[in-house]
Amino acid sequence: MEQTKSSRQTEKKESVKPSIYSMELDELKSWLKEHGEKSFRAGQIFDWLYIKRVTAFEDMTNLSKNLRELLAEHFVLTTLKTAIQQTSQDGTMKFLFELHDGYTIETVLMKHEYGNSVCVTTQVGCRIGCTFCASTLGGLKRNLEAGEIVAQVVKVQKALDEFGERVSSVVIMGIGEPFDNFDEMLSFLKIINHDDGLNIGARHITVSTSGIIPKIYQFADEKLQINFAISLHAPNTEIRSRLMPINRAYKLPELMKAVQYYIDKTGRRVSFEYGLFGGVNDQIEHAEELANLVKNVKCHINLIPVNYVPERDYVRTPKEQIFRFEKVLKNRGVNVTIRREQGHDIDAACGQLRAKERKEETR
Ligand code: SF4
Repeated sequence: MEQTKSSRQTEKKESVKPSIYSMELDELKSWLKEHGEKSFRAGQIFDWLYIKRVTAFEDMTNLSKNLRELLAEHFVLTTLKTAIQQTSQDGTMKFLFELHDGYTIETVLMKHEYGNSVCVTTQVGCRIGCTFCASTLGGLKRNLEAGEIVAQVVKVQKALDEFGERVSSVVIMGIGEPFDNFDEMLSFLKIINHDDGLNIGARHITVSTSGIIPKIYQFADEKLQINFAISLHAPNTEIRSRLMPINRAYKLPELMKAVQYYIDKTGRRVSFEYGLFGGVNDQIEHAEELANLVKNVKCHINLIPVNYVPERDYVRTPKEQIFRFEKVLKNRGVNVTIRREQGHDIDAACGQLRAKERKEETR
C-alpha cells in the first residue's frame, strides 16, 4: 500500500518535527483545514517561504499569532545550518550543510551562461556502491525528507539574493540515488516546480538515476516534463558491472528497455551520463560499442572527464583521447557533448567535500 506523506512523517522520531518545506501546497491547504484554519492561508505561507524567504514563523506577519504558533508547534522552518561555504575561481559555490541530527550534506551552485544551476543531494550517503564514487564509501545513513532537499535550494537562493540573482535550474545529481528515495524526490519536484513556490520550470529540472529499473517505469508513468538522465558509464554489461554493481541486479539490456519505455511514454529525449575512466571505458572500441548501444534511442550523451578520486584507483582520460572518443560518436550520428568542468579548485567531484569532512570527524 502506498504511504501518505503524513504516515511517512509519523514514522519519524516523535521529537523531530517535519520541515514545513516538505509540504506541497495542497497538503498544506488540507492541513490548515484540519486545524480549523482557512485554506487560502497556504498561499500566504508559500509566499513567506519561497518569495520573501523568511527564516522564522513569527516573521509571517499577515498570519494570526495563533496560526504562527500552531505552525511552530508542528513544523520546523530552517532545517539546514551552513557548515562550510566555498567559492571557486569560476564562481562555483559548494555548501556543506548540517542537518538537525548532525549529518552533513553537500549542495553545489554552478554558474552557467544561461543561469544558475543548483545540484542537490537526496540522501545522506548512498548504498548503490558505484566503484568510482566517494559518496558511497560510508554507505547509506538515511534518506532526506523532501523539505531537506527543498531547503537546499532555498539556502542557495538566499545566498544569490545578495547579488540579485536567482536559481534558474535544478539538477538532482548530488549525493544519493534519487530513485532510492522516490516519494520524497517526487514531492520535492512538485514543490520547487509550483508557480506559488520557487517556480522552477519542469524543463529546467533534471533528475539522474544509476538505473533502478522499477522506478524508471514508475517515473515514466508520472509523465513529468522533467529532464531525465541515466548514469550509463559503460558500453556493455561487463564494464558496467565492474563500475556500477547495481548492474548486477538491474542489467543493461533491461535498463535500455526501461529507458525506451520512458521515451515512448513521455515523448522526451533522455541523457546518458558517461564518465570517462582512463583505460577502462575510454577506448575507441568502447565508443563504437556505445554508438551501437544507443543507435535507435532518442538520446544525448554527456561525456564527463572524471576527476581523480583519492580513495579510488581511477585515472583521468587524456584530453586528446576524450576528443577522439567524442569524434567516433559524432561520426556515427550520436548527439554528444563533453561536460565543462567546474569548481576544480574546491573538491569538485561528487561527495568529496563531505568525504573530507567525514574523515576529519572520525580522526
Ligand atoms: S554515483 Fe550516485 S548512485 Fe552511484 S554511489 Fe555515488 S551517489 Fe550513489
